[in-house]
Amino acid sequence: MHYEGKIYRPWPEAESLLIQTTLGCTHNKCTFCNMFRDKRFRIRELEDIYQDIEEAKSTNVPFKSLFLVDGNVLALKTAFLLKILQKIRSSLPTCRKISLYAGLNDFRRKSVEELKELRAAGLTMAYTGLESGDPAILEAIKKRLTPDQAIEGMAKAKTAGIAVLVSFILGIGGKARSKEHIAQTTKLLNIMKPEELAPMALTIQPGTELAQQVESGAFIQATPLQILEEEKYLLENLQGFETLYWGDHGNNIVSSRGRLPTSQKQFLRKINQAITTHPVIRQEILHTNEW
Ligand code: SF4
Repeated sequence: MHYEGKIYRPWPEAESLLIQTTLGCTHNKCTFCNMFRDKRFRIRELEDIYQDIEEAKSTNVPFKSLFLVDGNVLALKTAFLLKILQKIRSSLPTCRKISLYAGLNDFRRKSVEELKELRAAGLTMAYTGLESGDPAILEAIKKRLTPDQAIEGMAKAKTAGIAVLVSFILGIGGKARSKEHIAQTTKLLNIMKPEELAPMALTIQPGTELAQQVESGAFIQATPLQILEEEKYLLENLQGFETLYWGDHGNNIVSSRGRLPTSQKQFLRKINQAITTHPVIRQEILHTNEW
C-alpha cells in the first residue's frame, strides 16, 4: 500500500482499510488546521489507486469497511470517483461501508443525480467538518462555508441517501463567543439533522494561524468550564432527530458515545457531574493533544 505524507482518518474508522485517493485538501486555509499544510492538493493516478486496491484484495482479508483518504475526496470529479468505487466493489465484495472526507460545499457542487450515482456505486458515508454554526466564527476561522451552504449540502446528501457525520469544535469561538457559538451551532444542527455528530474540544495545532492568534492574545481560549457548558447546552437543546453521538474524541473532557435522544439524559448527567466535580474546571485552558 502506498501512503504519502501524514495520513489522517476519523477515529470511528480505526478498523477500516485506508486507500489514498488524494493528497491534501482543496481548501487548506482553515486557521485552526494543520492537517495537510505539508501537501499541495493532488489527485493520485487512477492506476496507482487500482494497484492499492488489488494489493488489498491479494491479502484475502474480508475487509468490511474502507476509508478514502486524504482531505475532501468528494471534490473529485464524479466519473473518477465512480471508477474507484466500482473497482472497490468488484475487488473487495465484503466491503459494505465506504466513506470519505467531504466538505459540505463538495455536496453542494454536485447534483443530486451525481450523488445518487455515487451512493449506488457504494459510497455510504461522509465525514464533514462544520466547526461552528455561527457565521462570524466561520468567517474568522476562514472555513469558506456559510450556514445556508451547510444546510444545502446536507439536504443534498440526505436526498441521495449518503449518511453524514458532522463534526464541530467545542471552544472554537474562544472565551468571547462561547455562547453565540454553541447557540448557533445547535440551531443549525437541528435544521441539518445529521445521522452522526461528533463534537471535539479545540486543540491549538502548532504552526497554525490560530496558534499565532493565541500567542498574540488576539484569540483567548475558552475555559474548560465553558467547553463543558457548551456541550451541556448542545445536549439540552438538540431536538427533533435521532443521531449517533461521538462525544468520545480523545481531547474531550467527558467521553460519551451512543444514540441520541436515547442517551441524552445519561450524557447530561456526566457533563453536570464534571461541571461540579472535575478538577479540570479549575484550569484556565484545556490541555489537549495534537491531532
Ligand atoms: S479543516 Fe478541513 S477544510 Fe479546513 S483546511 Fe483542514 S482539512 Fe481543509
